[in-house]
Amino acid sequence: MKNNCINKLQLTLPALSVNESAARAIVSAFCAQLNPTIEEIADIKCAVSEAVTNCIVHAYREKQGDIYITVRIFDSRTVKIEIKDKGCGIEDTELVKTPLYTTDQSGERSGMGFAVMESFMDRLVLKSVPGKYTKVTLSKKLSPLELS
Ligand code: ATP
Ligand code: MG
Repeated sequence: MKNNCINKLQLTLPALSVNESAARAIVSAFCAQLNPTIEEIADIKCAVSEAVTNCIVHAYREKQGDIYITVRIFDSRTVKIEIKDKGCGIEDTELVKTPLYTTDQSGERSGMGFAVMESFMDRLVLKSVPGKYTKVTLSKKLSPLELS
């Protein structure tokens, strides 16, 4: 079965809230080369938005830092998106994926980010080393192209 990486985007942005919509737009524009359905592109945008927002809200606390995004496109029509920060990290990567789990004290967050990412993508892998980094890898295999 073919599964070769045929294209790659790398993007580094400061973890600022203004960059959430920019990251979402750039990643979805890059994925558009696969002619995804409107639903597939909406799913990808939503998942990217949640992962990037987490870097902005949770990773760096009082400090400044960057968000590192890599998008790979495979000839199997799979899109693989890595979203990484070099922030505080996560102690228990299983626990944080539990729906409604949040460390937010302000009441603004619902703890549904990882659940949303999991529901819109085929696969989510969360890796983190406390004090060093957090990396979310999201994959989705797009539906076959319809020949007209
Ligand atoms: P919501 O996404 O619904 O606004 P939330 O961000 O708290 O709320 P999740 O996105 O599911 O919910 O994340 C769960 C928890 O995982 C967060 O409350 C935070 O403690 C931790 N977390 C998520 N991403 C990161 C990150 N990049 N760095 C450090 N901690 C993180
Ligand atoms: Mg979140």
